[in-house]
Amino acid sequence: MAGFRCVKENFYRERFNDDKFKTKTSKEQNKIEDSIQLLYEHFRSEAQTDPEICTFLKNCQHPDGGFGGGPMQVAHLAATYAAVCALVIIGTDEAYEVIDRKKLGEYLSRMKQPEGSFKMHDYGEADIRGAYCAATVASLTNIYTQEMFDGTSEWIMTCQTYEGGFAGISGMEAHGGYTFCGLATLLILGKEKLCDVNALLKWAVNRQMRFEGGFQGRTNKLVDGCYSFWQGGLFPLIHRILVKTDSLTLGLERWLFHQGALQEYLLICCQTVNGGLIDKPGKNRDYYHTCYTLSGLSVAQHFAGGKFGSTWISGDAQNELIPIHPIYNICVDSVVNAHEFFSNLPSLDELDKQAYSES
Ligand SMILES: [Zn+2]
Repeated sequence: MAGFRCVKENFYRERFNDDKFKTKTSKEQNKIEDSIQLLYEHFRSEAQTDPEICTFLKNCQHPDGGFGGGPMQVAHLAATYAAVCALVIIGTDEAYEVIDRKKLGEYLSRMKQPEGSFKMHDYGEADIRGAYCAATVASLTNIYTQEMFDGTSEWIMTCQTYEGGFAGISGMEAHGGYTFCGLATLLILGKEKLCDVNALLKWAVNRQMRFEGGFQGRTNKLVDGCYSFWQGGLFPLIHRILVKTDSLTLGLERWLFHQGALQEYLLICCQTVNGGLIDKPGKNRDYYHTCYTLSGLSVAQHFAGGKFGSTWISGDAQNELIPIHPIYNICVDSVVNAHEFFSNLPSLDELDKQAYSES
């Protein structure tokens, strides 16, 4: 939404101005613009209000903060992450204002565990997904506080295993999804230096499969399209860390995995004839795999390191997708617009002071 020119304020000032000198051509021009304006207005009103999505997500918001998977359900951190990202993608004031930031802050504080982790829901399990979901929604909506994440990065580091990847909790096996969550959270918290990045890189590069071209989630497992993002998405994050210490030997045109091989696996092996994308040939399509295979494809197509950016598109040029933000996995524009909107709203501390003075 936010990337569309026609939803920008003052867009209609772009209309042709004939300086009151009506000619046959200028009248034609105005006529065409009138009909186009009708279409744009329809699009703007449909997309900007998105009443059904916003109302649905509003109904999923729990009175005690956070979002459930559906209306009247208990709040869950994964559903909260999905709901906040969906509202940020819609990107209108109405969508942003669905989020009760004060209650969200209270919910995150309630999920926080004494050792620094976050449980997924009341009476639920605590694992590295919780830390990622909490850190993303807190940073996107400007309710992040140091206190809220006290001890979180140290707890995350207990999850990096002897293999180099991260497990869901300490003592378990390294896994693509948990590794992305761990590393992205360390970057949000500014604590990426704690990570053994060389061990992580060695583990991550060895998860891309030689024949298939896609990634496996764990050592000795089969290829799966969704790991195109969970594993492939690690490389922009690793690059961001390495470029600060090793910018001379680090490539400035490619991520440290075979981008062409991953694109071929996704384009040739993971698409279904009726639309949607899959784990591997023989599996059924679903929204989860469609989302994460496309996100992985976008990562494989776009390199952006420091001031340098380049595009590597396998096959036809029309295969190109929009670049995604490497930490939040939504379009870069959506993240920028959300930061702009929420940074003008009071912080959690200020909200607490307001509530205190009103009581
Ligand atoms: Zn999968």
